[in-house]
Parts: sequence; structure tokens; C-alpha cells
Amino acid sequence: IRKSVIINTSTRQRPVVKYPTKPDGKLLYTSEFFGENVFSLKNMAKALPKPIFASFLKQRRGRQNLDKITADAIAHAVRVWAMDRGATHFTHWFQPQTGATAEKHDAFATMVGLSLPSGEESVLIDSFSGSQLLQSEPDASSFPSGGMRSTFEARGYTIWDTSSPMFIQTGSHGTKILYIPSVFISYNGEALDEKTVLLRSTEAMSTIAQELLSVLEPEHHVNHIVSTLGNEQEFFVVDRALYSLRPDLKITGRAIIGNLPPRHQQLDDHYFGRIPSRVLDMISEVEMEAMKIGIPLKTRHNEVAPGQFELAPSFEETSLAVDHNLLTMELLHKAAHRHGLRVLFHEKPFKGVNGSGKHCNWSISTDRGENLLDPTIRPETNYRFLIVLLAVLKAINDCGVLLRTSIACLANEHRLGSHEAPPGIISVFLGSQLSEALDSIEENRPIKNFSVPQFQTIKVGGTVLDLKVAQLPTIARDLTDRNRTSPFAFTGNKFEFRALGSKQSPSFTVAILNCIVAAAMKDIIVQLKEAKGDKPRLSVEDKLKVIRQLITETKPIRFEGDNYHGNWVEEAVKRGLPNISKSPEAFSYLNKPFFKDILTKKVGIFSPVELESRFIILNEKYTKDLVIEGNTLKGMVSQRILPACFKYRKDIAESALALKSIGADHGPEMKTLNKISEVVSGLEKAYNKLVANLKVVESKHPHDALEVERLAYEANELIFTSIEDVREYCDALEDIIPDAEWPFPKYTELLLTL
Ligand code: ADP
Ligand code: MG
Repeated sequence: IRKSVIINTSTRQRPVVKYPTKPDGKLLYTSEFFGENVFSLKNMAKALPKPIFASFLKQRRGRQNLDKITADAIAHAVRVWAMDRGATHFTHWFQPQTGATAEKHDAFATMVGLSLPSGEESVLIDSFSGSQLLQSEPDASSFPSGGMRSTFEARGYTIWDTSSPMFIQTGSHGTKILYIPSVFISYNGEALDEKTVLLRSTEAMSTIAQELLSVLEPEHHVNHIVSTLGNEQEFFVVDRALYSLRPDLKITGRAIIGNLPPRHQQLDDHYFGRIPSRVLDMISEVEMEAMKIGIPLKTRHNEVAPGQFELAPSFEETSLAVDHNLLTMELLHKAAHRHGLRVLFHEKPFKGVNGSGKHCNWSISTDRGENLLDPTIRPETNYRFLIVLLAVLKAINDCGVLLRTSIACLANEHRLGSHEAPPGIISVFLGSQLSEALDSIEENRPIKNFSVPQFQTIKVGGTVLDLKVAQLPTIARDLTDRNRTSPFAFTGNKFEFRALGSKQSPSFTVAILNCIVAAAMKDIIVQLKEAKGDKPRLSVEDKLKVIRQLITETKPIRFEGDNYHGNWVEEAVKRGLPNISKSPEAFSYLNKPFFKDILTKKVGIFSPVELESRFIILNEKYTKDLVIEGNTLKGMVSQRILPACFKYRKDIAESALALKSIGADHGPEMKTLNKISEVVSGLEKAYNKLVANLKVVESKHPHDALEVERLAYEANELIFTSIEDVREYCDALEDIIPDAEWPFPKYTELLLTL
């Protein structure tokens, strides 16, 4: 089967990608179809009576509740708009704590009883009411809730999130579905999803940041503050047929066993290389579909490992950016299917080559689009910038470990700290210019000019590089080089958090980030008010005093060196920064009083019940993921690998016997037989241990948060290393067993067939 699949990969028909065209057959400009399937504010304004649209806007800004008349009018308008475009169904679209999104389709077509002159008659009409738009009621008992409710209290509600626009996506045979972005809560109003918490965090950050600015610069009024987010999404692409022959990829998302091909990423020739044409076709289709639903995809390129790629959009307001990231992942998934490919979002699908992350580029901006993290030309005198920057530094200094918590999961554990992704220590990189700006303020001395390489002339705000080649234009150089090893790096006018895993939703991480920055800002507001005293406003000296305090206070979290180097681990210990390698340890911070207080009171993005349920869900998922991986490997070994070994052993034994019977040399056969027998018995032992350890974990049924946590630690101890042990023998056997007898596609085929 494997052989025929490999031959097929080169002859398979490629699907045609149909781009939107004008009547004359020319391709439309992207700007001409961008957002065509979104019920945007503009489309709403066109479709709704003016007063209805006005009251919707008021509701959206939190100033008014949606009344029934407005909701009914919007529902009617959006149904007509969607049906004109081919929609037959609508769905509330939400983000339970499974990492994936959820939807349940309802037809617009509804049977109603009508009183006609001829008598009562049932007819089918198209309808969509305001109450259907506002809320729907999925059975909450089938989603993770961390014990917040039991199956007999199964009520849960999805509620329309008016901050994210409705859109339509293709169903089957060209029919469409109207998507209604929603939050998901329990009967008692607790958040059962990711989005509710994220929205709370953006609101809290916005309010507190606004207060901070009004204390700092009362002369500048700011209406509203938002956090912005741009997610770089990495992923692997493999041939779908080969993928379907790997149960581990299908079940767990990663190839649990396998050896690297002799050439993989050593030559550094894949990054930014030519995108294979099958993949480019698939990605182009994704981009087109994404643009239609208003996702501004911007860049695409090959990543470091063979078969690895990245897509990134232009940044947007946080909650919308999260919706759009999740939708992009779904679009990739769908398009890959059509193109005979499979996208792997697992954080570490192949041992030995780079894993995939998701870089969260994050900043804070005013509603007028002013980026508060823009250093401008002279950051050392831009006090607003310095205070906001220091609020972020303080957040990471005080609570950076919560960011580590927010990215903890089994899959990411394989990636973090393995010389390709940041280690389990959270620190901040600022770059030489900002570091110097902060140091000069702290030391109360003039700012130094940076070392300027020889062939340069100074230009305002940057420098000019002279390449000594007359044909090339001169270019402006950035003020600082990049640092690719830092988990949390300042990159010009935003921070880039790089430790998030590729499969994870950015929601929890960004909610934590917003929350801890808001908490830091709260403290800074107090400091500023103290410095101000009874005076009407802060003087420059007052501001500098607070700035200086904050610079000194946040020094331990700043690190400009190589985060992959062993020295950093030692240095971090001296600085008292935690280095967390295991997920259950990362989760435990949600339970520590200092952090609990910030999350539930000081900023309050969780209720205590929600936080405990989150803690339980994370630990439970960790254990379940390990059990699933263990059982997958168990099946692969017992049903495929051991039988292949036994068959090969029998073949050699028979041929040795035959050779011996005619008096020929059968030494090599005997040697191979002995070697394979040794590995096979090693495998058998490791396998038995794995089976026993799985049994121990599976036999336990924890009843409360403490027991759930204990089991996660135990699963880690028992199953994680057991899997690695079994793998070692399997990988050795892959090299011994004849290629034709090996039961699974190898890494060479998975990574190099595109
Ligand atoms: P790279 O880090 O690979 O060089 P880019 O500099 O192109 O990538 O930017 C990566 C992402 O950062 C993009 O999605 C971009 O839109 C986003 N980004 C840029 N400015 C901001 C900002 N102010 N807030 C949030 N994200 C931003
Ligand atoms: Mg980047």
C-alpha cells in the first residue's frame, strides 16, 4: 500500500482553484472581493433602517441593551442578505475549551401552522428571529466544564458577540452557512469558553489603560483603548494519503515514532525557499477564501523544517484577530483536504526537526490608531511610551510565569526548550536602543550613541548602510538587530510572544497578557498618584521618578543574550526566574494565592469557580492526551511493528537454516537474527511497561481538583518517558527491518513528498 501511495503522489490530479473574476474573465483585485461575505457595519448600514442601525451601534459600545424590535430587524436583514448569497443555514459559532471551535447548523426553513380560509395548514417558510440571532442553547454537558456543571444541569447558552461581524462560508455544493460569532456560558452565567474571558480582559485593560493615561497626560483625552494582535501561524503540510497510513498522525497529530531522513534542515535551505506548487495552490485557495470573509492574510513563506510553512495576517483588534486565526486554521484544514494534503498543527509532529509555534504580536493602541508602544524618534523623552513599556515589563516581571501557564500543554512540552523555541523561562528582549534608553535614565546620564559600523552616515531615527556597491540603493537600517531566541521580544513597536504552540488558540494567552498588563498599570497608577501628591498635575521630575523606580524594579526580567544557551538557565536561577518544563507545574500557578488574586479580583477576568474549572480542564486534558498517545503507540507496536519483526525473524531463520543445510556460510544471517532479537526483546519489555503504566493511570478516577492535578503529575511520570522508551526501540527497528516490510510511511516520505 505504501509503495502505491508514493507512486500516486506524483500522478494525482490537482484540483483547480477558481479565483473570482470580472465578467470579461479578468481576475478581480483582492480589494474588490475582500470582505464580500461579511455582514460588516457597512453592509448593516445599507440593510437596516437608520434608527435600528443607530441603536445597534449604541449596544455595541455597551451603552444600551438590544431590544426585541432591533434584534428582530437585524435578524431579518441578515437572513435576506445571507440567503441572497446562497445561505440555507445559520449557526452560532463559539470557542469551547477544547482548542477547537464549535458550530451547530439550523436551517432557516421552518414549518409553521397557518390559519387559512381552507382551514389549518402547515407550510414551510424561511425565518430567522431576533431571539435566534441573540442566543441559542447547545447541550453544555458535552463540552469541557471542569466539573462546573454536571450532566443533569446541562443548560448552556451561546450569545451573539456583537464585536465580531457575522459572515458566510461555503457549505456543500455551493450552499452557504451564516456564521454568528458567539460566546458560550453556563446556565449560571459562568464562562464555558475562551472568548468570554478574552473579552473581559480587553475591557479591563482598556479601562485601566485609559485611567493611566488620564493620570499621566490629563491634557490628552482618549476615548477608548484597544489591544491589537497579529498571529503568525506555523504548520506542516504532508501528503494526505501518506498521512492516512500513519495512525499516530491521525489520532494524536504527531508522528510518535520515526527516524529523520539523512537530509532534513541541516542545510538551512528550506526557510524562505520556493513554496512547492501543490502547497502554493492550497495556500492560495486559503488566502482567497480568507479575504472573502475579511481576514487580511498578508505573508506566506516556507519555514525552517522541510514541509513546514507560515501564514500571517495584518494585525487587528485582539478578539477579532483570534477569531480570524481560528478561521484561518479551519480554512487551511479544508483546503488541504481538497488538495490531497493534510495540515499538521501539532507543536512537534516530527522529532528532530523544528516544531511549529504561533507568534503573538501584541500592542496597545488608542481608538485613533495611535500605537502606545511606538517609541517614536526619542523614546528617552517620550514618557507615555516609557510608562506603557514599563507597565509591560512590570507585568512580565511580576506575573510572566502566568504566560508560561497559558501555553502549557503536552504537545508544546516537546517543543519548548529544545533549541528551536524559547525555553520554559520567560524573559524580555528590548534591543540595544531601548536598553540604552532605560539604562541612561536609570543612571541619570546622557544617552550614548550606539556603536555605528564603519560605512555609515547617521540619519534621523535610523542609520544608512552603505554596501559599497554603486548599483544598489542605500537602505535605512533598523536601530537594533533581532533576537530570535527570546520568548517575549520587543520588535520595533510591539511585543512578540513566541512560545505559544501552533495548535493553541491565542485566546487564553492574550487574555492573560491583557490581564497582567492591566494589573501592572493599576499599581503604576497608584505610584503616579503618590508622586503627584496635591499638585494639579505630574511634573517631568515626578514622571521620571516613577519611571526610574520601574526600571530598577523590572531589571531581572530583561535579557538580551542567547536564550538557547545553557548559561541562561543558570543565570535565570540566580535571578529567581522559574524554569518550568512540565505542564502540570505550569498549571499549578493558577492555584497560587498571588496569581489567583490578580486573575479573580485585582483585574478579575475569571470568577473563582471559572478559574478552578480552567485548572481542572487543563490538567485533565494533559492526562487524557498522554493516555491517548500511549494507547496509540501501544496499538502500533502490538498490531504492526511486532508482527513485522516476527515475520522478518522467521524469514532470516529459515534462510539461515537453508544455508546451513547445504553447508553454506550463514554467519551474516545469524548476526542479523541475533541483533534484531535483542532489540525486539528490549521493545517487548518497554512495551509491557507502557501497558502497565497506562493501566495505572486509566484505573484512576479523580474526584476533585487536587486529585486531578496529582493524576496529571503521575501521568507525566509514568507515560511520558514510557513512550520515549518504546520509541527508541521502534526507531532502531525501523533501520533493521527491510523497507518493504516496515508498516508505516517513514519520515523521509512524510517530510520530503510535496
Ligand atoms: P516578523 O516578526 O516575521 O518579521 P512582521 O514584522 O511582518 O513579522 O510582523 C508580524 C505580525 O505582527 C504581523 O501579523 C503584523 O501585522 C503584526 N503587527 C505589526 N504591528 C502590530 C501592532 N501594532 N500590534 C499587533 N500586531 C502587529
Ligand atoms: Mg515574527
